[in-house]
Amino acid sequence: MTSLPQWQRQDAAHHLHPFSNQTELNRNGTRVISHAQGAYIFEANGHRLLDGMSGLWCCNLGYSQPRIKQAIAAQLDELPYYNTFFQCTHPRATELAAAIAHRAPAHLNKVFFTNSGSEANDSVLRLIHRYWDAKGKPQRKAVIARHNAYHGSTIGGASLGGMGFMHEQFDPLGNIHHIAQPYWFGARQDKTELDEQAFGIWAANQLEEKILELGPDKVAAFFAEPIQGAGGVIIPPDSYWPRVQQICQQYQVLLVVDEVIFGFGRTGEWFASQFYDLQADFIVFAKGITNGFIPLGGVLVSDRVTEALLSHTNDLAHGFTYSGHPVACAAALATLEILAEGHIDKVKNELSQAMRDFWLPLADHPIVGQARCKGLVGALELVRDKSSLQRFAGNGRAGTVCRDMSLQAGLVMRATGDTMIIAPPFILDRNEIKDLTERAWQALDLAQ
Ligand code: PLP
Repeated sequence: MTSLPQWQRQDAAHHLHPFSNQTELNRNGTRVISHAQGAYIFEANGHRLLDGMSGLWCCNLGYSQPRIKQAIAAQLDELPYYNTFFQCTHPRATELAAAIAHRAPAHLNKVFFTNSGSEANDSVLRLIHRYWDAKGKPQRKAVIARHNAYHGSTIGGASLGGMGFMHEQFDPLGNIHHIAQPYWFGARQDKTELDEQAFGIWAANQLEEKILELGPDKVAAFFAEPIQGAGGVIIPPDSYWPRVQQICQQYQVLLVVDEVIFGFGRTGEWFASQFYDLQADFIVFAKGITNGFIPLGGVLVSDRVTEALLSHTNDLAHGFTYSGHPVACAAALATLEILAEGHIDKVKNELSQAMRDFWLPLADHPIVGQARCKGLVGALELVRDKSSLQRFAGNGRAGTVCRDMSLQAGLVMRATGDTMIIAPPFILDRNEIKDLTERAWQALDLAQ
């Protein structure tokens, strides 16, 4: 049997890791996660960790879920592959498209399947070009997104994303413009005098300013996550989305809501677009649709966009070999069925309340400047000085807390900048949320 040191040696010799400091990995030996059960993952050395990040925001129902595994196995027997190109379909793709559309806001009725969130965002970039051509306005090609957003790692996704360290490693696509994120805590650290709601309006108005700067007849779409996830769980002030919605309507700019993280229940609604009452033209999804067990992504398209697209051409020159892969669709159908058995309501009620009761008091910790949460996500802002919100020097503390102290406390969290973030699985109960926050407190204590 292969052993831990051997896996680490092979990994160091042959594996190029995504988003990892390779030197650090090779120096310390990468952590090997060998198995998982329920909400827990196990390292090959036997260490058990409560997975506060649901994998990468995707295993929302934890790691066990026998019905999803059985659906995958049964589909492998029945039809392991067929494509959805060239006038073909298969039962699972049709059933899944209908199941997603039935749960989405009423005006989004068509689903285009991809393998990932990145491909889904790339697909939207293609579709919006077709849309504006069809509307006789081919000059509308500019896209607006936000600083610090994450929309994926393909050229399109990474160009849409607003992460400077990613842009430094390639030449982003042209005509994608970034505006400020609705990050009130960061603005307070930079001494804004605006209160939270006034700041939300200010941040939304950045969209209008950018539209006016580029010329309203040049702007195709605005891409945004409902709550910025990888950027640090940036929960916008309540005033933000209504104003953004107004601006998109006023200037006829398409609204693309990237729900790769928040789709399928994380806010306590099927889609965050329902939670925030958004009139999205596209909803981008991936991750939780299959509970992370097998790759699948896609895009929900609104009726008005579909109508224009199909009036222009009936043949979309776009697709992937695995668009609507039957095994992935079977996994997704099982996932949706399980989610519908009370999990989403549980997030909306019991778990959101537990987060407010147990996560928010972490703000009392001496190195926490703010604790925030919405639905089943949370963030902690680390500060050197609570009263002035002064930051820790250099890269801050969150990286070390999440990499070292939190693991010592038996909890997986993630760091982004000096923010610690959490997105636990929906299968936890109130007591387990309490346990999770106690572990987070322990990790913070170790970091002082
Ligand atoms: N969009 C958002 C909001 C994401 O968080 C992610 C991944 O984390 C993506 C898109 C990219 O999805 P994928 O990694 O499946 O390509």
